Amino acid sequence: MTSGSFDRARSLEQLGDTAFDLLVIGGGITGAGVALDAASRGLRTALVERDDFASGTSSKSSKMVHGGLRYLQNGDVRLVYEALRERQRLRRNAPHLVRILPFLIPLFSKDGLINPKVARALGSAMWMYDLTGGFRIGKLHKRLKKEQAVAHMPTLPVERLAGAYLYFDAGADDARLTLTLLRTAALDHGAVIANHAGVVELLHDGQGAVGAVVEADGRRIEVRARAIVNAAGVWSDEVRALDEGGGPDSLRPAKGIHITVPWSKVRNDIAVVVPVPRDKRSVFVVPWLPTDDGDFQLTYVGTTDTEYDGPIDDPQCTPEDVAYLLKAVNLSVREPLTEADVVGTWAGLRPLVKAATSGRTADLSRRHRVTRSAAGVVTVSGGKLTTYREMAEDTVDEVVAHLDDLPRSARRCRTRKLRLLGAQDADPDAVGLARHLADRYGSEAASVQALIDTDPGLGEALVPGLPYVRAEAIYAVRHEMATTVDDVLARRTRSRLQARDASARAATTVAELIAGELGWSSEDAARHAADYVELVAAERAAPRLPATGDVPEPAES
Ligand SMILES: Cc1cc2nc3c(=O)[nH]c(=O)nc-3n(C[C@H](O)[C@H](O)[C@H](O)COP(=O)(O)OP(=O)(O)OC[C@H]3O[C@@H](n4cnc5c(N)ncnc54)[C@H](O)[C@@H]3O)c2cc1C
Repeated sequence: MTSGSFDRARSLEQLGDTAFDLLVIGGGITGAGVALDAASRGLRTALVERDDFASGTSSKSSKMVHGGLRYLQNGDVRLVYEALRERQRLRRNAPHLVRILPFLIPLFSKDGLINPKVARALGSAMWMYDLTGGFRIGKLHKRLKKEQAVAHMPTLPVERLAGAYLYFDAGADDARLTLTLLRTAALDHGAVIANHAGVVELLHDGQGAVGAVVEADGRRIEVRARAIVNAAGVWSDEVRALDEGGGPDSLRPAKGIHITVPWSKVRNDIAVVVPVPRDKRSVFVVPWLPTDDGDFQLTYVGTTDTEYDGPIDDPQCTPEDVAYLLKAVNLSVREPLTEADVVGTWAGLRPLVKAATSGRTADLSRRHRVTRSAAGVVTVSGGKLTTYREMAEDTVDEVVAHLDDLPRSARRCRTRKLRLLGAQDADPDAVGLARHLADRYGSEAASVQALIDTDPGLGEALVPGLPYVRAEAIYAVRHEMATTVDDVLARRTRSRLQARDASARAATTVAELIAGELGWSSEDAARHAADYVELVAAERAAPRLPATGDVPEPAES
């Protein structure tokens, strides 16, 4: 194990003066997984991310570490088996970040009767899911009576409810999982990692690709590497063009959006799968931000799945996207939710590999593909958040197979049992701030707490109404490479997704808080805050949503 640092200035210096075995392009979950896999095998590894870590699709997922019941219904048993195996590995390697998430599938009746075909199909799917690997979580699915289902979501329309199924999956904060992989790669295994550092050119000699030109802070840095992995998600064709020229067209992006609403309007204590009227799909309704008394502050609903041919840099929600989700959830609650309840939204693009030429994007495979160009650049595309480790293993195997003079030990993947930084089991007795910090930082929570012990003012709320404290912003800049207000509010904390307008109102305070750490003048801080407010305003304007007030309080029980 080689110890290293997670310091951007130092990484930028090292990028220019080290001969690397591998350069990874893209700091989403896929690139992060590849960097950790390679560094833990002993390869001198660098990773550069053009924007912030996880700022692409990897902060905009449904945040589930799952096999995907739907893929089973599509007959993709192998994908589900592999994903459930990875879910189990992740629960062992990152118990502080990946938690069991029970799911309820309500069964609605027509004139007091459940469609027997639907009930039978679901029942078999449940057994299949358990048998395919779901059982490894330690709990099997159950059929619930109507009263038991209502106990999990009291807002369900009881008059149409006939019963429910309960099954078990897992969930994780996608952006924090990505960041933790990167910090583990850097701090425990010596990888050199930098964000806000994009590849603008690939360097070739007569034999093939030998490095890249990276642009960071207005500087051009030549990075030398014997192998290159392109893990640029929906941008991977752009990176391939730098290598191969022409206009590669290997992906078919599909857009998915989510909305956040006050939990008090839904009151689900576990995730619920609700059917979408006149569509074969269903959407997830997931409780978010637990309180000490067993309630939650928020619920998010998603996802949509639509073909997308707009600009890939900043996909936005449309009014139709929001209407689709509201309509779906409103069919399963008694008091309808409206646009005024939507306190947060996010839109992401699935980097689906173009395998089929037709069909709904929802039916396209979630499998991944590893390819190698004539110049030796390895591109990994497709896949899921859940299967990042397996994707990384396949990718690094491909890299290692073509690098001579590596020790034999580099051929063996180490990540199946590799614990991530901060890994510790949850303390069931932790409450309040201690629980909040442990759920986000694991054993590293002590470092955030130490900041508060030195300056109790840092224990105050970062965004009034949300559980994050000011110390987390300082920690994000000092230890997690946050360099903008958006890095802090959208990905180190999830304030932007949870309370869009309240987070914008806190932008100036946040900018002033981190200004000293980042060497900003008061003008710089004001400009950074204004940039964030502008981002949020555009995010609200695209689906034409009204501004919202304070962060929703948890409901009175
Ligand atoms: C709506 C939605 C819901 C989903 N839900 C789930 C789920 O619940 N569970 C699950 O398992 N999967 C889910 N997925 C799939 C999963 O989120 C994605 O497969 C995964 O996040 C893709 O990660 P990535 O690293 O490949 O891409 P990205 O996260 O997009 O990362 C690519 C990175 O490359 C960077 N980059 C691009 N060009 C350059 C360059 N020239 N130089 C440097 N960096 C560059 C980008 O800035 C970006 O950060 C979901 C996807 C969507 C869209």
